[in-house]
Amino acid sequence: MLNRHIKNAYKVLEGKELTHEEAVALINEVDGNDLLDLVSLANKVRDKFAPGIFSCSILNAKSGVCSQNCRFCAQSSHHNTGVDTYGLVTKKEAVEAAQAVYDNGVRSFGYVTSGHGYTEPNEEFLYILETLDELRERFPDMKLCVSIGILSRKTAEMLAQHHTGRYNMNLQTAPAKYAELIADTHSIEEKIQTIKWLQEFGVEICCGGIFGLGEAPADRVDMAFAIKELDVDGIPLNLLLPIKGTPLENVPTIEPAEAVKAFALCRLINPTKMIKFAAGRETTMKDYQALLMLSGINALMTGGYLTTRGRSVDEDKAFVRSLDKFSSKN
Ligand code: SF4
Repeated sequence: MLNRHIKNAYKVLEGKELTHEEAVALINEVDGNDLLDLVSLANKVRDKFAPGIFSCSILNAKSGVCSQNCRFCAQSSHHNTGVDTYGLVTKKEAVEAAQAVYDNGVRSFGYVTSGHGYTEPNEEFLYILETLDELRERFPDMKLCVSIGILSRKTAEMLAQHHTGRYNMNLQTAPAKYAELIADTHSIEEKIQTIKWLQEFGVEICCGGIFGLGEAPADRVDMAFAIKELDVDGIPLNLLLPIKGTPLENVPTIEPAEAVKAFALCRLINPTKMIKFAAGRETTMKDYQALLMLSGINALMTGGYLTTRGRSVDEDKAFVRSLDKFSSKN
């Protein structure tokens, strides 16, 4: 017999919304073999409201030496992680990286830099705009996604004018827990304001977070509702890979069952959005990555992450083809 919380959640398939209280009950009380019923529902909701599987790739265009103290991040100068550090890549290097992504058939390219962000149009920011112009000229049909941190209204407008189709700014966790679990050198309010300015200028938003930071299950639900309220376009979900030298290096890896619930709830709370399984597929979930992909996910990041490697694009293409068999369109 279907668990009563899951039975109630089937209303999402009829276009009804899950309340915060119902979502918390699901994440706290569904366990054991009921979990696969939850996976099945999340997969049905994905199939109905967000079919297809999309992929994107990113370039770490500037690495390390970051002034911010994000507890999970290998690139913060507050931690001693031995990560590769380099300044902004040249336009030529960015074009070469985009070409490799393009040749692999991926049509979404993320340009990512470490650092607090750009609240003034300084020399480095203007060079990024030139790079975006060049990328647009070379790859007219590629979506340019940018992730360069906190912006001002002015720099948000300038990015929108220079071909930024989508911007990535992650809440990372429940807004109320941001200072405790993520960082206190900047605030969640600055991030939310950046998202709102970009939306004002017509830029799509990719906004997600990380599970496994030491947050409570209810915090995962809070994050999913905070993202829903921002009405973003894509939701990248990451599973923490604890990195040596960061304050989270000894945090136990999230259990696959907990990750499954968090992903499924994110889908039930955001039925129509693109939800992407980003970092942690291969490293943290290993044997469970297919199960996670069936828990409401309809996009993946391929070809490696910011500071860790992933599977090859070809391996991921074969993986996506096999997942397609779990769609009712087949
Ligand atoms: S997540 Fe971004 S802002 Fe935070 S430490 Fe890493 S590079 Fe810096």
